[in-house]
Amino acid sequence: MAKYIRCAYCNGTGKDPYSLLSTKSGCLVCEGTGENEVKEPAIKCIYCSGTGKNPLGARIHCIVCMGHGSNYCESNTKCLRCKGSGKSSDGLPCTLCGGIGFWK
Ligand SMILES: [Zn+2]
Ligand SMILES: [Zn+2]
Ligand SMILES: [Zn+2]
Repeated sequence: MAKYIRCAYCNGTGKDPYSLLSTKSGCLVCEGTGENEVKEPAIKCIYCSGTGKNPLGARIHCIVCMGHGSNYCESNTKCLRCKGSGKSSDGLPCTLCGGIGFWK
C-alpha cells in the first residue's frame, strides 16, 4: 500500500524552504508537487520530528526520511540502542535502526 502525503520538507508548498538556488527553485524532495508517495504503514520520522529537515542544522532534508517526514515501518518494537530516539550519542542517525527508532 502507498499513499500520498503532504511534503514535510516544504510544508506542501512545492518550493525549496531554504531557497538554495533561487527564490523560485522548487522543492528537491517532492520536485515541486507538494506531496510525496510513501509506503504504508508509515510512522512519523522520529529523527527530524516529522519536519523533513535535517535536525543537525544543515540546510538539507532529513537523511532518514529523505524529507518526507515519515518512514515506512512495520515494527512497533523500539530500537534498544537509541531507545527509540533514532539518534546516536553524536546526533547522527542510529546505526542500528537507521534513525527510524524501531527495529525493521
Ligand atoms: Zn516538497
Ligand atoms: Zn526525517
Ligand atoms: Zn536505533
